[in-house]
Amino acid sequence: MNTIKIFCPATIANLSCGFDVLGLCLETAGDEMIIRKSSEKGIRITKIIGADLPMETEKNVAGVAALAMLEKVETDFGFEIEIYKNIKAGSGIGSSAASSAGAVFGINELLGRPFTRKELVLFAMQGEKLASGNAHADNVAPALLGGFTLVRSTNPLDIIKIKSPSELYATVVHPQIELRTSDARSVLKQTVSLTSAITQWGNVGGLIAGLYTEDYELIGRSLHDEIIEPLRSVLIPGFDLIKQTALDNGALGSGISGSGPSIFALSKGKKAAEKIAKAMSQIYKNMDLPYEIHVSKINDEGIKVVI
Ligand code: ADP
Repeated sequence: MNTIKIFCPATIANLSCGFDVLGLCLETAGDEMIIRKSSEKGIRITKIIGADLPMETEKNVAGVAALAMLEKVETDFGFEIEIYKNIKAGSGIGSSAASSAGAVFGINELLGRPFTRKELVLFAMQGEKLASGNAHADNVAPALLGGFTLVRSTNPLDIIKIKSPSELYATVVHPQIELRTSDARSVLKQTVSLTSAITQWGNVGGLIAGLYTEDYELIGRSLHDEIIEPLRSVLIPGFDLIKQTALDNGALGSGISGSGPSIFALSKGKKAAEKIAKAMSQIYKNMDLPYEIHVSKINDEGIKVVI
C-alpha cells in the first residue's frame, strides 16, 4: 500500500469537570487526509484545502507530529500529506488534533503498523505542542482511540478508553469567532480552592461511573465545572443563554468544548440532540451571529481508513 485516505474526527475535550484529562470522539464532523509514500525522504505537506494553514512541515501540526514519529522508525522513503480541512482552526473541537493524529495514524498504516494507537498518541502530542504550547493529549487521545478517553497521566503516558453508553449523543455549536487556545489559557488561575477541587473530583468520578453504568442521570449531574467554566465562559458570546437553553430542551449537561468558543451538550438519543441543536441555533440566529452546528453519536472507532 502506497497511498491512504483517512477520516480524522473532531473531538470534544475537557467535558466540563475533566479539564485537560477527558475527551470524546465525534462521528459526523472531521477532516480528511491523503498520505502517500514518496521516494524523497522526510515529510512534505503538498496540499491544504479548506483552511489557510502553513504548508511548511515544521509549522504545521501534521508535519511536526509526523517528524516526531519518524525519529523513532527508520525508513528509506518519505511521505507527502494532503489535508482537507472541515474543522476550523481555533474552533475548540480539536482542529489541530485531527491533523496531528491523522498524520501519525496514516503513516503508521503505510508502514504496516509498527505502533499501537495508544503509542501514536505520544507523537501526535508533539503537534498539539506546536498549536498551543502545551503537549496535551485530551483531543488526540479520543481522535486516535475513539469513544471517551481519560488521560490519567501524560508522564508517563497512561490513557484509559472508557466505555460509552450506546444512546449518548453530542450537540456542538460553534459561533464563528476565533478564540485562540493560548488566549483561553491566559484567563485561568494557577491555584484552586480545596472546596472547588473536592467538587471537581467528585464530578469526574461521577461522570466516569455514569458512563460505565449507563446512568444518564448521573452523567448529567456530573457534567459540572466549578473551576474553568466561570473564567472562560465570559469569552464566549451568549454562553449562559445557550447552556440554559440546552438544559431546558433536555440536555443532560452542557459546557465549553475544549478551550471554546464551541459549546457542547450531551443528551440521550438523537431526537433530543436534534431538538437541542434547533434551540441553540435559534439563540445565535437571534443574536445575528454566524454559527455551525453538529449533531453526532459518539464515535467509538476513532480515526479510520476511508475507501
Ligand atoms: P482547536 O482547539 O480547534 O484544535 P487550536 O487553537 O488548538 O484549535 O489549534 C489551532 C492552531 O494550530 C492554529 O494556530 C493553527 O494555525 C495551528 N495549526 C497548524 N497546523 C494546523 C493544522 N494542520 N490544522 C489545524 N491547525 C493547525
